[in-house]
Amino acid sequence: MKIAKAISSLVESFEKLPGIGPKSAQRLTYYLLHVPQRELDEFGKNLERLKKDTVLCNVCKNVAEYDPCSICSDNSRDKTTLLVVEQPLDVLAFERSGKFKGIYHVLHGAINPLENIGPDEIFVQPLLDRIMNDELRITEVIIATNPTMEGEATAMYLNKQIKNQKSKVKITRLGMGIPTGADLEYADDVTLTQAIEGRREI
Ligand SMILES: [Zn+2]
Repeated sequence: MKIAKAISSLVESFEKLPGIGPKSAQRLTYYLLHVPQRELDEFGKNLERLKKDTVLCNVCKNVAEYDPCSICSDNSRDKTTLLVVEQPLDVLAFERSGKFKGIYHVLHGAINPLENIGPDEIFVQPLLDRIMNDELRITEVIIATNPTMEGEATAMYLNKQIKNQKSKVKITRLGMGIPTGADLEYADDVTLTQAIEGRREI
């Protein structure tokens, strides 16, 4: 049996998504055939707008509607404490916990030699530039990369780079509570709060 092109194309698109295998891709596609056309149009429009209507904040590199983002332009935030995370989803997790009132820096990845991802492939230099800029008066950098091998390697690298360039800033790493190998974005609010409160200087 020859499958309609429109169906096989959509199945292929779904298969490219993380965690979606061929079976799930088929199931989703055939499910959508039962959805009213106007909902599909809406879905398509949202997909189209996803990248067109978002920007990277030039300050923190988070994905946002405007540049600078709502956190960077919020004067009530503590601009002296900078929390470094791997992904925009990590920012969401910390914001959900409501316990962190400082500002962020999103690396968009972690150093991973096996995948050929070095410091230049992620936003390390913009981070160092921010920390070194005396006008910004950053006094503490909390490194909140994931407790995975890549996240730890990234934390060690950042620690070394920051210490090489500016010794005055306090560098801390999240405290216990986050299981080794886990992704921060899945940590619950209590765990994240404990991790921030239990941070230690490195
Ligand atoms: Zn920002």
